[in-house]
Amino acid sequence: MTLAPGSGGFVSETESRQLAFDLEQKPVGKPTAAAVDLLIRATLDAHEPALELPAVRVSGRMRRTLGSYMPSRKQIAISSRLLAMGEEDDIRQVVLHEVAHAIVHARWGDKPSAHGREFRAVCGEIGAKPRRYVDVTTEQWSSQVRYLSKCGHCKVLIVRKRRMQSVRCVCGLKLCPRSWRAVARAEDESGDWVML
Ligand SMILES: [Zn+2]
Ligand SMILES: [Zn+2]
Repeated sequence: MTLAPGSGGFVSETESRQLAFDLEQKPVGKPTAAAVDLLIRATLDAHEPALELPAVRVSGRMRRTLGSYMPSRKQIAISSRLLAMGEEDDIRQVVLHEVAHAIVHARWGDKPSAHGREFRAVCGEIGAKPRRYVDVTTEQWSSQVRYLSKCGHCKVLIVRKRRMQSVRCVCGLKLCPRSWRAVARAEDESGDWVML
């Protein structure tokens, strides 16, 4: 059984009962950060070309934080929930906020205060909002989260809206999954799921 294509971001409870995968389908991966890396590189090329940053780290552990910059490793990290479920402009603003931190660190080191004069100036340069926080609406995210487990008998992946105690697989076996992995539908509407 495969996922019906074009069913959009939301699935009804009845549909979600039937959701399952074949093993031939692509495994569940992390949301892609390629577009984020391109945005970072393009911004640096225009405003701080000598600065090299490692590829953005996609973090499934960030809960209250959507992005971060670690100066010691020059590492920008982005929440996988933001990448998978955030609006394009919200992702852009979070990324530019962290790029601004990286540029401030490259130019002035540890001296400036985190969101001080230098930070606001760099934000103005690169088109980030010169604020301490990026406002991102996350209320709808929880309704998009699904939970995934695997049938130990037929190896089909099972997707549900909740971490259920027991579930019946398409093969007929009743399962009591020990673990459910949080996933969301991929932004590209391929029907794939990405890990959160
Ligand atoms: Zn900040
Ligand atoms: Zn099964």
